[in-house]
Amino acid sequence: LFDSLTRSLRRFEPREAGKASVYTCGPTVYNYQHIGNMRAYVFADTLRRVLAYKGCHVTHVINITDVGHLTSDADAGDDKMEKAASAQGKTAWDIAAFYEADFKADLARLNITGMQHPRATDHIDGMIEWAKSIADKHCYELEGGLYFDTSTVPNYAALAGRTKQDQVAFDESAHMRISEVEGKRHAADFAIWRKTPPGEARQMEWDSPWGRGAPGWHIECSVMSKALLDHPFDIHTGGIDHREIHHPNEIAQNQAHSGCDHSGATIWMHNNFLIDRRGKMSKSSGEFLRLQTLIDKGFHPLAYRLMCLQAHYRSEMEFTWEGLAAAFVRLKRMVMGIAQLKAQAPAAAIDGRVLLPAMFERARLNGLPEGIDKSVITDLNTAELLAWIDVFIKLDSKSGQSDFEFIAPELRLQAIEKADEVLGIGLLRLKRDDLRIRPVTAQITEPEIEALLAHRKEARAAKDFATSDRIRDDLIAAGVEVMDGDPLGWDWKLDI
Ligand code: AMP
Ligand code: ZN
Repeated sequence: LFDSLTRSLRRFEPREAGKASVYTCGPTVYNYQHIGNMRAYVFADTLRRVLAYKGCHVTHVINITDVGHLTSDADAGDDKMEKAASAQGKTAWDIAAFYEADFKADLARLNITGMQHPRATDHIDGMIEWAKSIADKHCYELEGGLYFDTSTVPNYAALAGRTKQDQVAFDESAHMRISEVEGKRHAADFAIWRKTPPGEARQMEWDSPWGRGAPGWHIECSVMSKALLDHPFDIHTGGIDHREIHHPNEIAQNQAHSGCDHSGATIWMHNNFLIDRRGKMSKSSGEFLRLQTLIDKGFHPLAYRLMCLQAHYRSEMEFTWEGLAAAFVRLKRMVMGIAQLKAQAPAAAIDGRVLLPAMFERARLNGLPEGIDKSVITDLNTAELLAWIDVFIKLDSKSGQSDFEFIAPELRLQAIEKADEVLGIGLLRLKRDDLRIRPVTAQITEPEIEALLAHRKEARAAKDFATSDRIRDDLIAAGVEVMDGDPLGWDWKLDI
């Protein structure tokens, strides 16, 4: 696994044999998640699946930030939740509940499963206790609240790749930002507790030794990861932007709390951005794509998961509609190819799961399981794993894979299922009909399409080509592409 702290591939050794603990920085629920955010969770979920595939019992936490995150990660601006609440004329609590539910629905649609979702507002007491324990040695109080002094921990921002000298230069060049908070000692110092300004009331505020107010954003992840996973745990993940500010601050808090004993986690991993032509997809830019936007246009959400898995998580991934369409076609081909394999395999072999592992063992598949294993364990090479699935599906097409020609369909299905444990697409469960997603703009219904196609078939059988062409033209006008002779037997699709 690639560890951002050492900037190197490291062999993962669980702290406790057979168990793995993973913490993923979750969403700030003041708005919908965009598909760039969802890339971060597809990555974290794939990591969880890899660890499970290797036999670990995984405890995975993705927190819900429902308080504390300001419009700038560097501790300036308004509170995101309160700002959204006043813009929408709702309470901050309503905003949080609504977007949390929407986030969880998106997770389910992408097969991102098996994790806990603690909310920051349920851990305020823990944050206050943590702050008390580090206040004397590592913090100072200002008008605005309690601030963390980043010079009190060794190698602050090592995760961001900054040396001590870099940090001094960074502080100097960023003195503009210091002035945003009067009295801050270093640009990188950050709020642990934000006092509500006199004469103001926040919707979300609590009493503390530093006055009534709300926690800073970074403290929640230190507190919740310790509460649910204990410190140090195995792997911490997040998007690559967190490598610069949020995670260095988490590490600083963890160092302070543990007497500079550890950073909180053994390995720190970061996914790269989803970008589009305008650059990094972000919520603050106003325009962004939600998973629901893709579904409205007729794409299956798992085509987006597949699109993510085709790229390496550490590479930037550019979103284009053509790219998504290609991933959707690939998904359809996989599902149809697997349907063919299922048709060839004896029913007992598909249902009799207990029999299969033994058969798989006995078949000694010329290193294929090792091949899969290598793709999986080498820093999540999901693209290569997908290529393995293509090999299994296309075995019949004389693709030159002579070594594999003798492998029975049920064994190939078994191998696909194994690989899919990591990919998390659910390839053996998906059916062709599941992949028919109706674009919201479609004017015509499925039964209407089927009826017209049946009529066209009759016309063609009667050699009435004028009628058959007219029906085809009508269907095209209604946005339906008729797919005569499609190798996988896909007869039509709604144009998207
Ligand atoms: P936020 O709700 O802004 O705190 O972001 C939630 C998660 O999404 C964090 O791990 C971010 O690093 C990640 N993230 C934000 N934008 C993108 C993007 N365009 N591509 C990939 N990950 C992103
Ligand atoms: Zn976090």
